[in-house]
Amino acid sequence: MDRQRTTPADKIRCDACPVMCYIAEGKIGACDRYANRDGRIIRCDPLTVLDRRIEQGGEIRPFLKSDWDGGLVAGDDLFVTAVGSGTTYPDYKPAPFIVSREIDGVDFVTVVTEAIFSYCGVKVKIDTDRHIGREGAVVRAQGEAVGLMITSEYGSQMMSLGGVDHLTGGSKPEGRVTCDTLMRLCNREAVALEVDGGATVVVQAGQAPVVDGHREERMRVGCGSATIGMFAVQWQGLVDEVVVVDDHITGVVSEHQAGKVLGWPDTGIRIKGRRSTPGRYFQVAEPGLGWGGTDITDPLTILGDWNPKKGAHPGLTLLMVSTTGEQWGYYVLDDALVPRPADLPDALKPSVDLIAENCEPAMCTVMFMGGAGGSLRSGVTKNPVQLTRSVQALKTQVTVGGARAYVWPGGGITLMADVTQMPDDAFGYVPTPAIVAPLEFTLRRDDYRALGGHDGAVRTLDDVLETGGAYGADSRAVARKRS
Ligand code: SF4
Repeated sequence: MDRQRTTPADKIRCDACPVMCYIAEGKIGACDRYANRDGRIIRCDPLTVLDRRIEQGGEIRPFLKSDWDGGLVAGDDLFVTAVGSGTTYPDYKPAPFIVSREIDGVDFVTVVTEAIFSYCGVKVKIDTDRHIGREGAVVRAQGEAVGLMITSEYGSQMMSLGGVDHLTGGSKPEGRVTCDTLMRLCNREAVALEVDGGATVVVQAGQAPVVDGHREERMRVGCGSATIGMFAVQWQGLVDEVVVVDDHITGVVSEHQAGKVLGWPDTGIRIKGRRSTPGRYFQVAEPGLGWGGTDITDPLTILGDWNPKKGAHPGLTLLMVSTTGEQWGYYVLDDALVPRPADLPDALKPSVDLIAENCEPAMCTVMFMGGAGGSLRSGVTKNPVQLTRSVQALKTQVTVGGARAYVWPGGGITLMADVTQMPDDAFGYVPTPAIVAPLEFTLRRDDYRALGGHDGAVRTLDDVLETGGAYGADSRAVARKRS
């Protein structure tokens, strides 16, 4: 393909997205991804090849043809990702690289392209039981609305960020900031997000969340009821009552089914909250940044008067603990049946430590989500719907920068992939604004022919690494993140 060759002194036009920048010699375009070098549009980043031979976390190096033993083409050691490949835009032409390789005696092709996504966003899972915002609350970056809080999951707060409404349906600053936020999150950078009526959270894929300046360490072991169920036996005989404080379900061992099965005696405790079932209470406090995701700093505030007719007596011992084991308090009822703080007996310490030990490290998960069922399919096949059907029939595997994508059932190619499984800086943007994401489709060569693929554009891996493509010949090798 002869791509806009002209004299070096002239500006030349990049046609890799609708912006169509004119780029002077030695300069780069508006997205920082394409440049004019010697009168030719080149991709600034090298084509990225995943190399199984590089140890996990090992070196990243320029990939030279001389590094490569041609015999390895017959295996699955090398995988050409779309990172640095360039794009199919304006879509009617074949994808930048359509690479053939043989795996276990079967011919496969991998079609790679850097896809431009307007319909895209991220789903963010933040492992914390601290309350960072109500479901439906607007999430902002740099003051602009970029998404919202969605239904929390077990031990995690969830956000849905981006999407076409924020990218293109609002003001220009909203679109620009949304695009920047998505790109940085997908490239595993730390991004500060403010929740209306809630907290400020620093989110970085694969790292602990920072909630209002507090770096979260642990994901809760379970709700208060689950914690009672798991550890009731550890407490039996060592303490008269245990309350596990939790914003979802606060558990009380003497009333809980686990305690009843163990023959735990009544204590006359009373919890201020909405009783769900025995030993399980909802809404003991407001959501917040305190004990167990509630707003309380003093756990005794959730207790009512103790009932001596139901077992309360002076000297009764009480352990109160949060679902991460981060907060705990030990109390003894005085003669007026008022809990008084006391030192935690050595015998009980291991049970508190066991809660903490059973908590997983708190982490942020960023899942890129996008709709790949649009015009980019024309870079794969002359008959786009055939690609959709092939993906849905599991004949074509979709990866994002080499990371396996989950493809949603139903129409289209709506995919989701974990950004921590992709090479560094895999995502870019164009100022329309839209996100540029690497996309690879891998399928058997005979299936590719059958779905109307651009079979004449298929090249060997050898040829790709030797001569590059329309946007240059640089490549780099990085370690595969997964075996
Ligand atoms: S924004 Fe980037 S991809 Fe789009 S035309 Fe300009 S240089 Fe090319």
